[in-house]
Amino acid sequence: MAQLKNNERIKVLIVEDEVAIMTLLRYNLEKEGFAVITTGNGEEAVNLIKENKPDIVVLDWMLPGMTGVEVCKHVRWNQDIKNTPIIMLSARGEEGDRIRGLDSGADDYMVKPFSPPELIARIHAVFRRIRPSLSEKVLEFSGIFMDLTTRKATRDGVEVHLSPTEFGLLRHLMEHPGRVFTREQLLDSVWGHDIYVEIRTVDVHIRRLRKALNYDGKQPDLVRTVRSAGYALEENPEGKNYINDDSNEDDAA
Ligand code: CA
Repeated sequence: MAQLKNNERIKVLIVEDEVAIMTLLRYNLEKEGFAVITTGNGEEAVNLIKENKPDIVVLDWMLPGMTGVEVCKHVRWNQDIKNTPIIMLSARGEEGDRIRGLDSGADDYMVKPFSPPELIARIHAVFRRIRPSLSEKVLEFSGIFMDLTTRKATRDGVEVHLSPTEFGLLRHLMEHPGRVFTREQLLDSVWGHDIYVEIRTVDVHIRRLRKALNYDGKQPDLVRTVRSAGYALEENPEGKNYINDDSNEDDAA
């Protein structure tokens, strides 16, 4: 998903005067979850970058008036916006053009025609290279945030301390909120198929996970025990205490 650390969508500015290409890119980037702003004009692009602070710019070389190369240089000279990642697009494909494009300060350079998935892959690659933290996924569920890069989890802004196994367990549940997983399924997904682990081990780690998430004993449980089925991560508006809900769990430790 095209999300920033704070869970906002990645904002892409497309600078392209050819309406058909602009429409195609906008459609595909929006479908991928990006927030898209557009212009077909170089001067306006510079203003939009200053005002809207896009996270990345997809910039066509050939524009009426100010060219993409000039826009790129402008951005790099401007202290406030100089770190904005830029992917330059061009109908030209010669090596000299590629070098000129990158020399002007672009982070990547793509020759038309290209497929939208290729552009999306390049956008993610630029983020990984330039701003590693931006391209990484952050999971959120009911006040719990998991940063998969730093492997830190918080609940209502307070850091939750989890062992690697509990982190993996919570991650799996947060990737599929509301879905009930059997203990076997959790073992397979979190521990892996190849390891033999006793099935009740899951209960032990679920209990530890609950305790970690309920660090001051006041939060509603979000890990629900579904009797004779398994576990699910669910919103808990009534603040029901699921911990006492599963008496058959206690002999597992
Ligand atoms: Ca053009």
